[in-house]
Amino acid sequence: MARLDVPLFEAMSDGMSLTADGETLTKRYLSESGYDATMARLRALDAEGTRTHLHCIRLTERRPSRAMRSPADDTSSNRDADPWVSEAIEIADTVRTIADESAGDGVDWIGIRGLNGSARRGLQFIGWDLYSGRCGIAPLFAALESRGLACREPSFALRLLQPLVDAVLENRSFDAGTTGFAIGALGTGGVVYGLTLTSTLLGNERLLTAASRAAASISVDEIARDLRFDVIFGAAGAALGLLALHRVRPESWILDRAVECGRHLLCHARNGISGGLAWRNDGARVVRGFAHGAAGVAYALARLYEATDTTAFRDAAIATLCHVPSVAAAEADRRRPAAGMQWSWCQGMAGLGLAQLEVSRFVGRPDVVGGLEHVLSELAAPSNRLSPSDQVCCGNVGSLELLSRASDVLGENQWRDAATARATETLARATDRGSYAVSAIDDKFSPGYYQGLSGIGYELLRLRWRDLPSVLLWE
Ligand SMILES: [Zn+2]
Repeated sequence: MARLDVPLFEAMSDGMSLTADGETLTKRYLSESGYDATMARLRALDAEGTRTHLHCIRLTERRPSRAMRSPADDTSSNRDADPWVSEAIEIADTVRTIADESAGDGVDWIGIRGLNGSARRGLQFIGWDLYSGRCGIAPLFAALESRGLACREPSFALRLLQPLVDAVLENRSFDAGTTGFAIGALGTGGVVYGLTLTSTLLGNERLLTAASRAAASISVDEIARDLRFDVIFGAAGAALGLLALHRVRPESWILDRAVECGRHLLCHARNGISGGLAWRNDGARVVRGFAHGAAGVAYALARLYEATDTTAFRDAAIATLCHVPSVAAAEADRRRPAAGMQWSWCQGMAGLGLAQLEVSRFVGRPDVVGGLEHVLSELAAPSNRLSPSDQVCCGNVGSLELLSRASDVLGENQWRDAATARATETLARATDRGSYAVSAIDDKFSPGYYQGLSGIGYELLRLRWRDLPSVLLWE
């Protein structure tokens, strides 16, 4: 302090005293030495904890997904002339490389998840959910396999889903993803959708039967328990999963279950601040994005109308979306997206714009897309810099879906060109950094769809093949 220097205190790794400049300042300052704390932690590790740590150590020895890739690495026989397909294969190869197969019962990955139901997040083996679990990883491999582009082995998608399919068909429980209650993308609804999509891509009936069995567990009682209502946790996500299954397996009980989700949503609708309908999630907040708010609920209601012709669903979808103010509006609006999230799928314009395009299509109301052209122009402007994040949920790759979809629906090629330009910029930045910007510091720890590598890979494939179903729209 007297030297106007930053004070540096030290302790020996096996000691408890605090020293500075080689002099002991306080004996027994620490309650235990670093060595003792480490040994206690190691002794307390259970089998799962040991496996997690061993896999983390293995991952630190692996190269980043994009860094240090030399031309000599590009010798795979799967190389494709299309840059998006080529990059998706590269991503799939990375996802395959960072998998843990040491347990002997299939393939698993480490990702960032909530710890023991608390708000704390940490590295853990991922669950089966669509959002960040294995049901979101399988579609990337299934899409490649469906085009004859297997990643090192045929039907890796089937192998990775095998333990889930066995558990569901044998009526054993499975870890959907979240430790709390969820029937949406983080719960059974996401599992139903992931199995259905993979089954469609691979033409595999057993996966579809498993999807159907999983759907049966979204009971009327489960739906009534939902107080989140949204796509990620609640009845909107469950309805979208059930409707996707019903389109492939048109059995009346599946549609009845989806309709029950719709009724639950209508029962809990309240009047929004700016008119129309809104939903409070269990944080008592009203939000408007696709992931947790009005845009996602309106989209689910519009799809219910498409499947049932029930005008109550159509009217509620319109009443919800017509009164959602533009994301760019009103600085004082407490529901505006967090900083850097303006163009995101989850909270921002990518999700809201997608909902506007689709709801307008399903309910035949062009006025629902009011203001969208302006939003698309802003998003596509060369001066609009990339978001800090690349991931599908909150970043640049999610906004590609809005531009491409707008091009499909409105028949205007300029939006597809803008998507290509943004994708090119995103890839160039990832190459510079040596990693995509995803929820974890290093993309090796984010293998999943919405916040990780698999989603980026799948969305790049959709730039090449528009007939691949959109996961962000639960097609
Ligand atoms: Zn997000």
